[in-house]
Amino acid sequence: MTSPSPVVSKAIVTGHTRGLGAALSEALLARGFSLLGLARTRHPLLAQRFPSAVNEAEIDLSDTRSIEAWLAEGTLQRFLQGARQVLLINNAGTAAPIGPCSLQPPHEVGRSVVLNVAAPLMLSSAFAAASSNLPDRRIAHVSSGAARNAYAGWGIYCATKAALDHHARAVALDGERAMRVATIAPGVVDTDMQTALREVDEGRFPSRGKFVELKQTGQLSSPQQAAEKFIEYLLSDSFGQTPTVDLRSLPAQ
Ligand code: NAP
Repeated sequence: MTSPSPVVSKAIVTGHTRGLGAALSEALLARGFSLLGLARTRHPLLAQRFPSAVNEAEIDLSDTRSIEAWLAEGTLQRFLQGARQVLLINNAGTAAPIGPCSLQPPHEVGRSVVLNVAAPLMLSSAFAAASSNLPDRRIAHVSSGAARNAYAGWGIYCATKAALDHHARAVALDGERAMRVATIAPGVVDTDMQTALREVDEGRFPSRGKFVELKQTGQLSSPQQAAEKFIEYLLSDSFGQTPTVDLRSLPAQ
């Protein structure tokens, strides 16, 4: 009798419960990946649809002490064991607080910086250490056009996404064995984050009208469209050759 083949492809996805992260997770599960999803809540359906492949941890990624405590439990290390190809997609993020510098509550600034930067960087370090003997390991930070263009009212979002871009550039230079890293900007995707942006007061976010227009003229991608393109690229040989990528600039596949 042959023993069941081990799961050789495993992915850790933050913010897997909604929006782009949920679509990325589904796209990976459909390709046979085993998933470890990290968010404050659980996905309403994924564990029922893929009972043997979905693992979830409820964690507030805007709190460094929670992240440290969770990493110390060893769940990440145990999950990666025995895999051949392992992925970390740092997707969870927030566009808040929105508004000029003087109107950004400092405690919200702190939580946003932890969620958008400290959590991805802490998870990346833990992932790199735990996967050091594996033959194919890839880290993708979900970036944004805001990392590369400045917008009034988006100081924290622009700064935190730019930090991810620069982290990828530097880590790529480390030249760690079998490690590929890059940030991927997904374009404008029809998620709760976009809904919230369209509801912000224009005085706080002068570009609001542009995002309303993109929605009204049908120019947002669906989470599924963005996720398919993202995963195709992440799993391709091209991933990691350029540290910062925008899905909108990739040739159609
Ligand atoms: P979203 O719809 O708001 O979903 C955010 C996800 O992050 C949810 O799964 C949420 O799960 C999780 N999350 C939020 N706060 C968290 C926390 N404190 N701890 C743990 N998990 C948390 O956002 P989205 O539009 O899909 O965005 C996903 C990524 O794409 C973000 O990094 C965003 O910056 C980037 N992006 C989006 C767009 C766009 O147009 N949508 C464009 C460029 C870049 P829980 O609520 O269950 O915790």
